Amino acid sequence: MDKVIMLRYGELFLKGRNRSYFEGVLARNIKAALAPFECEFSRTQNRYYVEKYDACDEYAIVERLKCVFGLHSLSVAVKLPTELESVYAAAIELAPSCESTFRVNVKRADKSLPLNSMQIAIEAGARILKEKPYLSVDLHDPEAVVNIDIRENGFTYIFMGSVPCAGGMPVGTAGKGMLLLSGGFDSPVAGWRMAKRGMKVYAVHYHSYPHTSLQAKEKVVELAKKLTRWCGDVTLYVVPFTHIQEEIHRRCNGDFMITIMRRVMVRIAEKIALSEGCGCLITGESLGQVASQTMESITSTEDAAERLPIFRPLIAMDKTEIMEQAEHIDTYDISKQPFEDCCTVFLPRNPVIHPDLDEARAEESKLEGEQALIDEAVAGAEVLKLTAK
Ligand code: ATP
Ligand code: MG
Repeated sequence: MDKVIMLRYGELFLKGRNRSYFEGVLARNIKAALAPFECEFSRTQNRYYVEKYDACDEYAIVERLKCVFGLHSLSVAVKLPTELESVYAAAIELAPSCESTFRVNVKRADKSLPLNSMQIAIEAGARILKEKPYLSVDLHDPEAVVNIDIRENGFTYIFMGSVPCAGGMPVGTAGKGMLLLSGGFDSPVAGWRMAKRGMKVYAVHYHSYPHTSLQAKEKVVELAKKLTRWCGDVTLYVVPFTHIQEEIHRRCNGDFMITIMRRVMVRIAEKIALSEGCGCLITGESLGQVASQTMESITSTEDAAERLPIFRPLIAMDKTEIMEQAEHIDTYDISKQPFEDCCTVFLPRNPVIHPDLDEARAEESKLEGEQALIDEAVAGAEVLKLTAK
């Protein structure tokens, strides 16, 4: 009797003719997630299986698979050659060992058996009751379900319940996006949400060393590493922003500091994004959350992107919802560390909260040699290739 992890996928079914493409990408992502484990991975129609993992920690494998987007649920099953006596014995063993209600579900793809699904379920139920008399049958609302899945391949899979997985679409099936990743709570969640829709995420971070500490940068590297668990490998560009900030500070109206900084951040991100073949930028902005996220501020930021759309998956989310997701993806504890982001350097006393677009453009145009500054920042970027652990 072997143990096997059965993997199911959800939304892929919607994809009609593209389905085999989505299945292929999902299989590739599962294999990458399983790379650290000694096991066998196989596909049949509608299902994937992980087998022969005796040498590994089953819990660790399941936890890893729960982060693969595109997977809907999984079940740990026992697999045995289809032979009814041993199937019943295994069902008895798997059934709960303390007082509870149960039912047996049978799926029978193998039509060569002498009994039909209903007959097998009744027989299995009767034998379970005989061996475990503290159980009782409840067909409508059972506490436990013993599933017996008799396949055409000569094997039967028996399992109790299933574990929900991450859902969404396989990463890599919805193009690439460049995430503006700060050290805060929001942007990692924004990247995660786009990855959940199948986007391959790249990231760019602006740091203001020596105005900000090296720890502030390390924090962002840690955040990007956390994302790899969900997003697969992430390329992180760490861009020196100090010179640009100093120049904005020197030449532009201080009240527009944040507005202009955001515009330049977008310009740099777009340049790097295009060089990586990304089709969009992603930010963690959420309407009204802070002064720099009013409609007018967002309009001014949007205006700086010349070729690519800016996706803001958190735009209508509350901070509490975002925090919950940050906990879920395990970035919360890193984000809450107090190291300063580059945005907090050179903060004006009276920042413009509702910048007029024409004024914002006019202020930015005071930034002499802007293109050269942007090119310098891009050339000075440190490129980190973070691989999934
Ligand atoms: P976060 O929690 O993601 O830092 P926030 O609430 O602090 O967001 P802002 O500081 O206004 O919001 O930043 C808005 C968005 O701009 C961020 O979500 C992020 O996408 C981008 N951003 C801000 N600072 C940086 C930075 N230093 N490097 C890269 N992107 C940044
Ligand atoms: Mg921030």
